[in-house]
Formats: sequence, C-alpha cells, structure tokens
Amino acid sequence: MLWNEDYRMNQETKEKWVLIGQALKKRFRRFRKKIKRIHPYKKAAVIASIITLAGGLIIGNVMGKSLESKKSEKQIQKVTKELKAEAKKAAASKETKKTDVKDLPWNLTLVNEQHPMDAAYTPEVTAVSGEYSVDSRIADAVNQMLEAAKADGMNMHILSAYRTIEKQTQVFNDTMSTNLDGGEDYWAAYSTTKQSVALPGYSEHNLGLALDIVADSYEGLDDQQAQTPEAQWLEKNCADYGFILRYPPDKSAETGIIYEPWHYRYVGQEDAKKIMESGVTLETYLKENYGIE
Ligand SMILES: [Zn+2]
Repeated sequence: MLWNEDYRMNQETKEKWVLIGQALKKRFRRFRKKIKRIHPYKKAAVIASIITLAGGLIIGNVMGKSLESKKSEKQIQKVTKELKAEAKKAAASKETKKTDVKDLPWNLTLVNEQHPMDAAYTPEVTAVSGEYSVDSRIADAVNQMLEAAKADGMNMHILSAYRTIEKQTQVFNDTMSTNLDGGEDYWAAYSTTKQSVALPGYSEHNLGLALDIVADSYEGLDDQQAQTPEAQWLEKNCADYGFILRYPPDKSAETGIIYEPWHYRYVGQEDAKKIMESGVTLETYLKENYGIE
C-alpha cells in the first residue's frame, strides 16, 4: 500500500517535468524562428559587438594588470632608492657624529677615569649656598632646584660643589689616609679611594658642574642615602633643573664610580630629561649621540 503511494507520487513528478520540458522546447522554437527572421547583417553586427565587448574586457583586464605591476615595480624602485639615500645619510651623520671630547658643548663636558679635564681650565664660579660655589652658568639652576625641594618639604643641603685641584688633592689624600688607617695596604687603599674620590683633574667637581647633596637627617655618603625622601625627590625631579644622577646603581663598569645617590651633575634640561628617562649613563649617552669612546 505504501509502495503504491510512492509510485504514484513519482509518476506525478515525472509527468510534471515532461510538461515543463515540452513548454521550454516550444519557447526555444519560437525564439529560433524570431532569430531567423532577423536580417543577417543585424545578426553579424550583434555578434561582432559581443565579440568586441568580450575582447575589450579581456584586453583591458590584462593591460590593467600589467600597468599595475609596472606601477608597483616603480614603487618598489622608489622605496629602494629612498632607503638607499637614507642609509647613506645615516652613515654620513654617523661620521660627522664622531666628536672629539674637547669639542663637546660645555654642559656635556666629559670627565672620568679615561678623560681628565683640561689641566689649564679653571671655571668662573658663583657662590650658591654658604661656602659652596659652582660654575656661574649653572648657579640659577642650582638655586631653583634647592628652592623647589624646600617648597616640597625636603630638608637637604650641599656637602660639596666646586673643588679646586688643590682641594681635590686634599680630599683624595684624606680618604686615602682613612683607608690606610683602616688596615689596607697602599695599593688596596689607593684602589678603594679611587672608586669614591676621583683623582685630581678627573673629577666633575673640578669643573664646577657637580654637586653632592645630602639629607639633613642623614649625611652619610653611602647607599643608605638613597633611602631618604630627599634623595628620592632629587632623582625624580633633577632633570627639570638640568641635572642627572651621574653615578646610578650597577653602572660602575661604565662610569668607573660606585653608586652615588648624592652626586648630581648639570648637563642642561634637554639632555638631562633624555638621560634620566632612558636611564643611561653620561658615558653611554655621549657614545650614542656623539660617538665618544
Ligand atoms: Zn660628587
């Protein structure tokens, strides 16, 4: 019974398709008759225009693509040219960047173990706080920084500023004696001293561009100074006044000097901000920007 039902349904579908097929055939025949009635010239014209249109599309496509590839080729050549020019420029600027230490701007003067200061140089100094004086060109910056610290509730004072070569010699010898008294032999005492006090002529204090600043509550020149709010204020704000923390922690391989949270060096606001933000030493900064080794 079920099978019969299915069979009947299939027959009905078949018949439907036969009818549709017949209707389509009839239409096609009518269409062919219509075409036959069209003038052959007209037919040729229609076919020709179809061929032209298709051909045009194909040729247009191909030409467009080749134009595009020519365009991108040109672009690649242009970019390559630009890159080459840039590389040339960079190489040239690197060459000109090699500055002699003596030709650095005064605010970036480099003085360290490898670079003693010019022995004939004596800065013009101005008193800033009590007995202390600095290079006259930085006196305003020093005063502004100390006033700002005070306004923020900091209690600090200068412990050392400009030192003449004679004074540097005296400081070096005093520290040397202390180390010798502590039981070190001569060379050990000399080496220890050199790590915290520069040899005369090798100190930024001889330039008048450096300051040792300590908290009123703790005058010690050791790592503990860094724990005072004053030292922390200085590290955070020094760049605004053109100063840098000259001997940061873990950089003695570059600076030749131990971590000195009290020693601040003037380099000018612009350079100070770059140095303090990137955390590099003055040595690295001058190497990167001026090619100084
Ligand atoms: Zn110092």
